Amino acid sequence: MGEELSKVYEAKSVEEKWYKTWEDNGYFTPDPSSKAKPFVIVIPPPNVTGSLHMGHALDNTIQDILIRFSRMKGEKTLWVPGTDHAGIATQNVVEKELAKEKKRKEDIGREKFVEMVWKWKEKYGGQITMQLRRLGASCDWTRERFTMDEGLSRAVKKAFVALYDDGLIYRGKRIINWCPRCKTAISDIEVEYTEENGKLWYLKYPVEGTNEFVAVATTRPETMLGDTAVAVNPKDARYKHFIGKMLVLPLVGRRIPVIKDDFVDPSFGTGAVKVTPAHDPNDYEIGLRHNLPQIIMMHHDGKGHISHFPKEEQEDIASYEGIDRFKLRDIIVADLEKGGYLEKIEDYKNKIGRCYRCKTIIEPYLSDQWFIRMKELVRPAIQAVEEGKISYIPDRWTKVYLNWMENHRDWCVSRQIWWGHRIPAWTCDCGHIIVAEEAPQKCDKCGSTKIVQDPDVLDTWFSSSLWPFSTLGWPDKTRDLETYYPTNVLVTGYDIITFWVSKMIVMGLKFMKKEPFSKIFIHGLIRDVTGKKMSKSLGNVIDPINVIDRVGADALRFALVSLISGQGQDIKLSEDKITEARNFSNKIWNVARYILGKDKSKKVKGLAFADKWILSRFNRTIDDITGKLEEFDMGEAARKLYDFVWSEFCDWYLEMSKIDASDKVLVETFEGTLRLLHPFMPFITEELWQKLEMRDLPRGKAGARCETIMLAKWPKAEKNLISESIEEEMAAVKDIVRAVRNIRATLNIPHSKELTAYIVTGKKLGAGQVEYIKSLARLEKIDITSKIDKKIEGSAAAVLPEINIYVPLKGIIDLNKEVERLKEKTAKLDEDIVQIKQRISSGRNIPEEVMLEWKGREKELLRQKGALTDQIDSLSA
Ligand SMILES: [Zn+2]
Ligand SMILES: [Zn+2]
Repeated sequence: MGEELSKVYEAKSVEEKWYKTWEDNGYFTPDPSSKAKPFVIVIPPPNVTGSLHMGHALDNTIQDILIRFSRMKGEKTLWVPGTDHAGIATQNVVEKELAKEKKRKEDIGREKFVEMVWKWKEKYGGQITMQLRRLGASCDWTRERFTMDEGLSRAVKKAFVALYDDGLIYRGKRIINWCPRCKTAISDIEVEYTEENGKLWYLKYPVEGTNEFVAVATTRPETMLGDTAVAVNPKDARYKHFIGKMLVLPLVGRRIPVIKDDFVDPSFGTGAVKVTPAHDPNDYEIGLRHNLPQIIMMHHDGKGHISHFPKEEQEDIASYEGIDRFKLRDIIVADLEKGGYLEKIEDYKNKIGRCYRCKTIIEPYLSDQWFIRMKELVRPAIQAVEEGKISYIPDRWTKVYLNWMENHRDWCVSRQIWWGHRIPAWTCDCGHIIVAEEAPQKCDKCGSTKIVQDPDVLDTWFSSSLWPFSTLGWPDKTRDLETYYPTNVLVTGYDIITFWVSKMIVMGLKFMKKEPFSKIFIHGLIRDVTGKKMSKSLGNVIDPINVIDRVGADALRFALVSLISGQGQDIKLSEDKITEARNFSNKIWNVARYILGKDKSKKVKGLAFADKWILSRFNRTIDDITGKLEEFDMGEAARKLYDFVWSEFCDWYLEMSKIDASDKVLVETFEGTLRLLHPFMPFITEELWQKLEMRDLPRGKAGARCETIMLAKWPKAEKNLISESIEEEMAAVKDIVRAVRNIRATLNIPHSKELTAYIVTGKKLGAGQVEYIKSLARLEKIDITSKIDKKIEGSAAAVLPEINIYVPLKGIIDLNKEVERLKEKTAKLDEDIVQIKQRISSGRNIPEEVMLEWKGREKELLRQKGALTDQIDSLSA
């Protein structure tokens, strides 16, 4: 008994202690016998290579708040954690490790390499989940999954085979986005486009048997090696007479036709375009329409590939083989110029696509890939959102989603890497393809045993699209699947709506016949205080673990969540905000210290006015916070809670309680407040809640005894304690106290000097309230009257709605001297006002926010001047 609280809150030891206690006691695991309705979230699985960044911290804080709130409401709450194998990202990390030993993955072979990745995963893959624990994430770690664990791998095979059997997966030659560095196809959305300064080369192709040329403009002149036609718009009069004629491809000597195609834009370049079906998506389509050959002129690694050209075509260009694409570009341009085939070079701004993993310029490339036919699959996924079975919060993402889904192209799911789910397809020597969950022994068509598995692996997003049900046991019919699917809400940033969210909906509807979640909460992305993206190269990254080390997880969580806006805008995180949240935890800590240090011998009497007021405010706050959390408005809930704790409970109620209040109300309100705060700040609330219990202080009605605040009941508002009239009376008390404090501040009256106040008001102020005012404003005497006949000489005045306050100052301060001082102050203010007015009137082309700031300043200066003038008037009366 009687354990003291340390002077300052030591977050680190408290957080470690409680997280371990919670996890060891199984508090994160839902009670299997509970009959309550389930509330389920599946974590967006972080990359196994990842370490916690601010985006994760925000995302998981939001989820943990919803989870802890639900758990305290008594629901059957489950948060499923896990990590993603993150194909290319993880492979890159291990490749880099290998490179340190001057080795490439090819040197050790596929099997050894994959083994190495697994070893790497065992050793380092747990980092992010340890970091999530430090954040306080109350995931059920007994259900932790990995996208490549045994069960999920089975789910992937099952899904692939089922889609194939339904005719929804096909293998085809397509132009895909190829990263020559990663040596794999990447999906459309994995390409980052930026406007870059480039060149436009004008090449002249001779018309066979004449002295004429047709000029074409291109941004990738090296691809001319793969040209199989030149296309013009059929309506373009300049080229009419060339249509059907043959051109001779410079350097190569290949004969290629001039064709007409509506796709060609006559206003681009010369109006004639070279057609390279194997290296450009539009040219590919043109090629299909005109039955053109597809000639590949580049190796997978981006180097020139001409050794398969007919002999005569290779003659002059044999040296191009194996030359890197950018060097090749220079050589080809130089050779074209030498031969008189280069008309001109222009500067040209071009959209350049880069690999989002390694930033290498991607190459549109013709290759054999596996595709999922999306057209049919997206239909129910569109419908589910249109019918409101799934809704986005905020709603504006609905449009983005629908627009994306309606234009969904087939999904290229094969990747030419080694780390991932190997595609369950085998090709026989006879050409037959077998797609099966288990490796076949022989070809089911010809019986041959010469069958080889497809070397490719599946896109990482394939396995994560199954995440909401594969983690619960699918394809087995498990109890978990039955109990916890569909989940309730998905929490994520808007950057992966297209990558991931849309695909989970598609797969959930396909395999479970039910949408995987009913709500999608989309939050903004974290930026620095100026709005810039946090990045290593800008040096503006705030590391969440570093913040947790410094100020504790609770402060970090609170800072992040209180920055969330209702419209889900990006979040500008500053050190100031973190400091503010740390101060908030200290404030809460100090309240507890005050309560624990109180003299318990004081007799408990009936409810004082202060008690009635705080009970009214507290119960209203319970309603507010509960409502906001149910609407997923975590940001507003946090801000309201902050205001309640700081501006009402601490600033007013604690002060008033020193005059006159019931200890019981003080302790019970604080205890309930801790419960309201728990989802936001789990650690400090548990620590204090336990400490209060050790002192055996009474707890609120709703909080029956239990061993952890985590499982304590969420407070329920007692509506009969909410009183409009008491809150109004308290508002008057606050106004009067503030007004007198203002008078003291403007007139430099020391706090030690007691004053008298005349309060003229029609409002009723009870004897209790008058006592609070006297004490809080340090007044010796208060005279309340409904009207006053003559002016009270030499007094300071404050005019409030329905209340006038006069504070006589004769004998308290030297009135003449004070009037002089105030006049000087007014003169200084006048100067400032003139200055700001000038600035506002002459300010052109000023950013809006600066102008707003100036206008705010002007308003404030005018207000101050008004107050000073009033004081001067009343003092000189
Ligand atoms: Zn790449
Ligand atoms: Zn066969």
